[in-house]
Amino acid sequence: MRKLILLAMMSLLFVAPLAGQEPTVVIRTGMLLDGKGGVQRNVNIVVQGSKIVKIAPQTGPPTYDLRTLTILPGLIDTHVHISYHFGQDGRASNRGETPAQEAYYTAENAYATLMAGFTTVQSVGAAADLPLREAIARGSLPGPRILTSIRQVNENSGAPEQLREVVRKLKAEGADVVKIFASKSIRDGGGQTMTDEQLTAVCGEAKAQGLRTMVHAHAAEAIKAAVRAGCGQIEHGVFVDDEALKLMAERGVYFDPNIGVVLQNYLRNKSRFLGIGNYTEEGFAYMEKAVALNNAMIKKAVATPGLKLVLGTDAVAGAHGRNADELIARVREGNQKPLDAITSATSLAAKSLNLENSVGTLAPGYEADLIAVDGDPTRDITALTRVVFVMKGGKVYKNAR
Ligand SMILES: [Zn+2]
Repeated sequence: MRKLILLAMMSLLFVAPLAGQEPTVVIRTGMLLDGKGGVQRNVNIVVQGSKIVKIAPQTGPPTYDLRTLTILPGLIDTHVHISYHFGQDGRASNRGETPAQEAYYTAENAYATLMAGFTTVQSVGAAADLPLREAIARGSLPGPRILTSIRQVNENSGAPEQLREVVRKLKAEGADVVKIFASKSIRDGGGQTMTDEQLTAVCGEAKAQGLRTMVHAHAAEAIKAAVRAGCGQIEHGVFVDDEALKLMAERGVYFDPNIGVVLQNYLRNKSRFLGIGNYTEEGFAYMEKAVALNNAMIKKAVATPGLKLVLGTDAVAGAHGRNADELIARVREGNQKPLDAITSATSLAAKSLNLENSVGTLAPGYEADLIAVDGDPTRDITALTRVVFVMKGGKVYKNAR
C-alpha cells in the first residue's frame, strides 16, 4: 500500500509540472536560416507557449511539416509609419477622417505587415502607434510587435534645454525611441536643419534616459553632426559621403538607408500624394533623382568595413506589406550578400532595438517569431516576398501552404 501511495505521489511529481505547461508545437524544417548567418538542415523546431525550447534533429511527427520551404526568423523593419494610409478618397491627406477610421486603417496596415512576414516593426512618428502597440500586445489584434517614437523632434522643437524636457516627456509617455529630424526632407534638398547643440541635447538626454535615438539625415554634414552628438542610428543618408560612412562604422552607429521601398512607392502612387505639403512636382523630381543616388550610395555602404546596416523601409501609405522589397534592393543594387541582408533584417535589426535576446534569432529561449518562404532566399532573394507561414510568439497567423 505504501509503495502504491509512493508511486502515485511520484507520478504526480512527474505529471504536475506538465499540467501547467502550454502545448508543444513541433515544426519540421528542411532549410533553416537562424538569423545570424547560420544555416541548418532537417531539424525540428520545438515551440512551447510563446518560445522556442529546442532545435534538434528530427524525431516524431511534427505539428507543421515545412520541409519544402525555408524557415527564418520573423523579419524586422526598424523604420515604418504604420498609421500612414490612403483615406476614403484614395489620397494620403486623410482629410475629415475620424480617429476611429484612422485606427482601422492603422490596424489594416499592421495586418498587411505581419502577413508579409514582418513580426516586429519600429514605427516612428505618430501618436496612433501607442494604442496600436498596446492592442497588439494584448494578443487579439493581429500585427507585428510595435515599437514607437510617438512623435518626432525637429529644429522647431525648442532650444537645447526645452529639447531635453521633450525627451523626458517622451520617456514618461512610453516611447521606445526618439525620432529626430536633423535634415530637410529629400523633397526640399536634404540640408542640415538642427544645430549641433540641439542634436547633442536630444541624443545626450535620450542616452541619460535609456532611450534609443534615430535621426533622419540626408546631407553628409547632418549625418556627421548626429554621429558626433552621440545619436544611435541614421536614416536615409542619400548624400552620405565616405567620411560619414567611416564615422558611423567607427562609432558603432547603425545606418538604415531606405533605398528599395519608400521612393518607389511615392513615384508609383504620385497622384495620391501630389499637392499635399511638399509633395510638389519639384519634390517628385528630387525623389526621382534620389533613386539613382541611393543605388550608388548603397554599394558604398555595403562595402564599408564594419558598418552596421540595419533593415528599414520608411514604409508609408501604399507600402505596408511590401517591406521585403528593401531586401531585394539591397542585394540587387547594393551587392549585399543575401545572408547578410537577412541578418540585417533579423538579428542585427533586433540588436539595434535592444531586443537581441528575445527576437531576430532562431534558437532556444527566443520568442517563436518565425516565417517560412517559398524558395531559397540565399539564392533568390525574391523568395522573401513569398511568405506562406507566419508564427509570432508561438501563435500561427498565416498558413497558406
Ligand atoms: Zn520616416
